[in-house]
Formats: sequence, C-alpha cells, structure tokens
Amino acid sequence: MLRSRGSKTATTEQDAPRDVSLSEGEWRGRLTPAQYRVLRKAGTEPAFSGQYVDCHTDGTYRCAACGAELFSSDAKFDSGSGWPSFTEPAVASAVELHSDRSLGTERTEVVCRACGSHLGHVFDDGPRPTGQRYCINSCSLTIDPEQR
Ligand code: FE
Repeated sequence: MLRSRGSKTATTEQDAPRDVSLSEGEWRGRLTPAQYRVLRKAGTEPAFSGQYVDCHTDGTYRCAACGAELFSSDAKFDSGSGWPSFTEPAVASAVELHSDRSLGTERTEVVCRACGSHLGHVFDDGPRPTGQRYCINSCSLTIDPEQR
C-alpha cells in the first residue's frame, strides 16, 4: 500500500523511555477489561460503540491509562467513522507514531508517548487545516471538561 505523498506523518520505530511504566498486572488492575484490550493489547473498540463518538463537550481529552493530555475538543470533528476523530494532537510530542503492518495493510498507529498505550491510528484523509484524521478509540480517552 502506498503512503500518501507529501504526508506530514512521520513514524518512529523505537520506543522512547516512558514517564509511566507499569507491569501488565498493574495495568490490568487499573483499567477495565475493554480498556486493557485496546490500550495495552492494541485492540479496537467496535465502531459507534464508544462514549465520545458524538461528544461535543469542550475540554481536553486525556489518556485513559496515564492521564496525559492528548487532544483538544477544538480539533475534534465528525468523521462518520464511528470513532472520535481529531485533526491533530494537543501537543505534537504527546503522541508517538508507529508503522503498523497488521491486518495485511500498512497503517500508522498512534501511541501515548507518556505511557506507551495504544490510542488508535492516523490517516491522511482528514479535513483542513492538517489533512490528518486521528482515529482514536473512545475507551483510550477520558475527557476533562473545560471550566467556564
Ligand atoms: Fe498514556
């Protein structure tokens, strides 16, 4: 499969040192079974099943595993995919991108930089201004509603 030309998506193959590093048993204790399957085993929740697909609350989406700030509601858009979708991370350094060749196709996996947990994938078919579509599992996220 060809990567889109001119894509700003860069992938890194090496894991950086993590700010949060727990044993698998500790992760199991901290996360629900559904969260564990997605965050720690790179699973995917069924489309349209997650709590944030149609969420329009203003706020910050944090990593459900470690609490790191990942996405702003300002970057959220309705992609029709069945998963919460964002045009960019809140801070570029909050996520890591890894080449994912599972399922017989080449995709770019999105991982929380702070704890290494799986968040979803990013595609080059997003809207302006970035052209990126960060397709993220609801159960990898927890929203911190904006205080007004
Ligand atoms: Fe995290």
